[in-house]
Amino acid sequence: MRILVTGGAGFVGSEYVRMLLGAPGGDAGPPVSEPDVVTVLDKLTYSGNLANLAPVRDDTRLRFVRGDIRDSALVDQVVPGHDVIVHIAAESHVDRSIASAAPFVATNVLGTQTLLDAALRHGTGRFVHVSTDEVYGSIESGSWTETCPLAPNSPYSASKAGSDLLALAYHRTHGMDVVVTRCSNNYGPYQFPEKLIPLFVTNLLDGGTVPLYGDGGNIRDWLHVRDHCRGIALVQQQGRAGEVYHIGGGTELTNKQLTARLLEACDAGWDRVVPVTDRKGHDRRYSLDSTKISTELGYAPSIDLERGLAATVQWYRDNRAWWEPLR
Ligand code: NAD
Repeated sequence: MRILVTGGAGFVGSEYVRMLLGAPGGDAGPPVSEPDVVTVLDKLTYSGNLANLAPVRDDTRLRFVRGDIRDSALVDQVVPGHDVIVHIAAESHVDRSIASAAPFVATNVLGTQTLLDAALRHGTGRFVHVSTDEVYGSIESGSWTETCPLAPNSPYSASKAGSDLLALAYHRTHGMDVVVTRCSNNYGPYQFPEKLIPLFVTNLLDGGTVPLYGDGGNIRDWLHVRDHCRGIALVQQQGRAGEVYHIGGGTELTNKQLTARLLEACDAGWDRVVPVTDRKGHDRRYSLDSTKISTELGYAPSIDLERGLAATVQWYRDNRAWWEPLR
């Protein structure tokens, strides 16, 4: 099996590559058969980092190609010979999309279309599109199922919805073997310190303050990145073509509740929290129903939040050399 992973030097992508190649990081091993080749195609934007692949650097099955998924000539060279494309590359930070939407449309929409066209041209066996719960917008109560309509609210989530629907359209229109995953918020090691958990932890470890949006009441479902990757691997291997699978089942917390846990883990008090004006268009709550992937593919998260968060904070304590140059 030859697997092409786009965005394999980012947070989720590098976890996927480390998992495929057998690096430690979670309780359960990957449910995929041993890959023969794992090719990473990554532009190394501000959030892509070769240090994220250090644990598997010497694995002879790993190939790295630095390049842009929008570069169709390059993509045409890289795609042939792969059995599966796991498409994880994206512009991923909501706040950046509010400041400037152009890179989000370019990478997330046009980049995905470039990859889909190459997969179609070269007859790639399967295309796994990694999407997000944010494509649904915001939900006051209950949980989304895979058939709920998409109603994204930020330029980031709108660009992800565009790419998600394009991937499904290539299945419908061209009969391509496409599967889509939509996951909730991830946490874990190697996450660029602009997202809430690594930002708060690294600020606290440095003795600084942390910015809490609005009333701190926004609710997210937190899942360890290794569990996300285990879900992607299951879908890659056993998901039905043309189907969408939710990967959730973490723990729902308000940002205030999460902040309390992070303060405790970093031996800090509420005096270190600075309330800031709420994010524009801030979604109140996300919640996925993950019944489909559990019943069809036997998925269940293996890392509970208490243990996962403690291990994550410890990782940032132990790996200052990784995050200090990124701040
Ligand atoms: P990230 O920003 O850490 O990583 C993105 C990677 O993509 C980086 O390595 C970057 O260099 C690369 N990249 C960006 N633009 C590129 C381009 N034009 N060509 C090639 N490579 C490019 O993001 P992440 O948190 O790892 O998220 C990855 C994917 O997972 C995204 O599609 C996101 O929607 C999805 N996802 C993430 C989460 C989460 O909580 N992190 C949750 C659900 C879904």
